[in-house]
Amino acid sequence: MDYGQLRDRLMRPERAGQRTELAGDPRRAFVRTVPCTSCDGSGTVTVWWDGCEQWGCSDCDVTGNAKDAPVGADPGTEHVDAIAGCPAFVDAETAARAVAAALAPWGHRPADRITWRVGASSEPRICSSLARILPRAVEDLLDEFFRLRDKEIGIGVREVGLGFPGDGGPSHAFLMRGHAHGHARLAAAARLGLRYPAAGFPDGVAGRPVAEVPNPFTPLLDVWRTGFAPERFDEDGIGLFAPRRVRAMDYLAIRDRMLRPVHTGRPVDLTDDSRRGFLRPVRCQVCGGSGTTMNQWDGAAEEWACGTCGATGVAKGAPVDAEPGRGHVDAIADCPAFRAAEAAARAAAGALVPWGIAVPDRIVWRAGHTTSIALRYSDLPFAVSHPIGLLFTTEWRPTGLSAFIDDPGLGQLGTGPSHVARLRGIASDHARWEQAVQLGRTLPEEGFPAGVGGRPIAELPNPFAPVLAVLRTGFVLDRVDETGMWLYAPHPDTVLS
Ligand SMILES: [Zn+2]
Ligand SMILES: [Zn+2]
Repeated sequence: MDYGQLRDRLMRPERAGQRTELAGDPRRAFVRTVPCTSCDGSGTVTVWWDGCEQWGCSDCDVTGNAKDAPVGADPGTEHVDAIAGCPAFVDAETAARAVAAALAPWGHRPADRITWRVGASSEPRICSSLARILPRAVEDLLDEFFRLRDKEIGIGVREVGLGFPGDGGPSHAFLMRGHAHGHARLAAAARLGLRYPAAGFPDGVAGRPVAEVPNPFTPLLDVWRTGFAPERFDEDGIGLFAPRRVRAMDYLAIRDRMLRPVHTGRPVDLTDDSRRGFLRPVRCQVCGGSGTTMNQWDGAAEEWACGTCGATGVAKGAPVDAEPGRGHVDAIADCPAFRAAEAAARAAAGALVPWGIAVPDRIVWRAGHTTSIALRYSDLPFAVSHPIGLLFTTEWRPTGLSAFIDDPGLGQLGTGPSHVARLRGIASDHARWEQAVQLGRTLPEEGFPAGVGGRPIAELPNPFAPVLAVLRTGFVLDRVDETGMWLYAPHPDTVLS
């Protein structure tokens, strides 16, 4: 068997355009996600061992989900999201029932009920060693058999071609590799004409040729092949796992539209909304309106973002008018997407509510040529972007969160001080937030405001999503804070750098 192919579909069930009805099968149930109180839903607990390390939480078997989480016949939104659009879930259920049947000779008859759980598709690597999928007694007996016949069977885990346990990686890969290894060894034992031991093994297998007893790993690998994962086979029934759907965003499409809102040539009235104001372009005294200042650094003159005007090039105290100037009309009035940009800016303001930041419902437009906004890396308030950035790059980095440079999709966005680099920074934060959601992370209480600290990140809006939504219109969110929502409209001649 080519075990390497298993990796292609691992945790990636194929999506169809249509959704299948999930409710209505009395043998199918859904577990509601309730974070385990011991590990806060992360599946790991922090221990001190020659420094600080994370270990799999044994209270929840590293699932991060409370043992007594309610199970119901009706799927929640997370189940519909993760399962209904993937027709292979039916194949996963069929294969799981075949696993249950293969356990009969071993004296185990799991109840005919399949319970689906939705969760993170990868857990910190150390977790995996705790999880058991087949009944513990069966796994122990198989281990005993492999130990007794090790010399004859002789297939190392490397030989299945799915890497070595020490390679790290997410726990599901680790578990699947173990099952592939078990499959290869039982298949070899069958070819060699080996028998299970007569003593200490259940009646259904004791003394029988391995070739005559169904290999339980064969249907187990069939479950993995659907992109879903097996979780348990016990007296309560069968547990199946569906990876939480990650809301992927097309960052490259945003790049293509960046600073290029679509102009129709048919201007509309910009004064129809009293909540909309227009910043009069008064040049920043410090940078002369360029948004950058020259600095000497190690002998070389370099350009830095002007801190006085926030790299906008417009003086801090510049007046805001109710009437648009000529520049505003040129840059905004014939671009229908300006309303979408305003809606996205309001969404950004909404995302700040849990952080305790109240943004007045006031939008101020700045228009003109720009050269330097690239040098600012966040459009969100420091009180939001700073603790998140710190968390992403330090505490959460070693336990499963990848940096943007590791992501091939984002790598294509380019480097260097440019508008594209600015997009890259925001996209990277957006992607890492989604990863943290997928991993079932909870924000620490320390360093975070009361409204967000200690809460599962999945419960909070991704604050970077509306920032990207503005960029996708061709406009830019300069900032959003206690003073309002500040949008930038590039002059039609502005060149993307
Ligand atoms: Zn736990
Ligand atoms: Zn300035």
